[in-house]
Amino acid sequence: MKIIASVEEMTRVRGQYRDKGSSVGLVPTMGYLHDGHLKLVERSISENDVTVVSIFVNPTQFGEGEDFDRYPRDLSRDRRLLEEKGVDIVFYPEADELYPPGYASYVEVESLGGVLCGASRPGHFRGVTTIVLKLLNIVRPGRAYFGRKDAQQSVIIKKMVSDLHVDTQIRNIPIQRDGDGLALSSRNTYLSVEERDDALGLPRGLELARRRIEAGERDAGVLKRLILEQLSSSPRIRVDYVEIVSLDRLQLVERIDLSNTLVAAAIWSGKTRLIDNFILGEL
Ligand code: AMP
Repeated sequence: MKIIASVEEMTRVRGQYRDKGSSVGLVPTMGYLHDGHLKLVERSISENDVTVVSIFVNPTQFGEGEDFDRYPRDLSRDRRLLEEKGVDIVFYPEADELYPPGYASYVEVESLGGVLCGASRPGHFRGVTTIVLKLLNIVRPGRAYFGRKDAQQSVIIKKMVSDLHVDTQIRNIPIQRDGDGLALSSRNTYLSVEERDDALGLPRGLELARRRIEAGERDAGVLKRLILEQLSSSPRIRVDYVEIVSLDRLQLVERIDLSNTLVAAAIWSGKTRLIDNFILGEL
């Protein structure tokens, strides 16, 4: 497994694979890997000749006062996990390799980035789309892999790739969870035992709503209240948002459409912001 830190070398190595006719899959991550990331890696390995995993804690997607500085990092552990999986290349650039002094270009998908997480984290998706397009331009993968845990991110990236004619197929994988139901996240490491216990209201509330939909409920207001009620049973949790939107345009809906709905929520447990969702339809 090769570790590449420079854009110049990544581009050159990519060119060699192109000359050989090898298919390339890219898995963008911020590192501190867990089984959610590794599922994306497995999927890429099964579908491509070569798998590139990028590890980059992208400063432009963190807002003022967010956790950029304390975001967990452990390259040697990540390297070992990726090597075991059979990854070919880890792209691990320094921040100034991708954002040198004088850097000035950003990508913005209008209309999809101002709701849900975009409303609570202004500028977040502008940072995400910018880094993802940069990585797609550097690695030129035939396929790139994202998790449905960040459903809004996936919707926005698909739109960007389509609008800007990027020649990469976007693949999504289901949310991977721990045994207690909490969606895997590098940020779970911030949680104390009590905070983690409180946070379980999030997957539980969403699961209750999912079951209620299965039983026939279609009123978004009723479902939203059900989730909020479940969350309020953990008094230390702060709700950031609970929203039910159309999956394609991320617009608030009153009725559930079984083929086009995203039920998404974000909470704070202690100082940790956690997100989770479920989707009805195809992302
Ligand atoms: P991150 O390192 O948090 O930026 O995540 C990198 C990729 O892994 C993103 O596409 C995430 O959506 C995906 N991912 C993170 N957590 C999970 C999870 N629990 N299940 C599935 N995919 C995930």
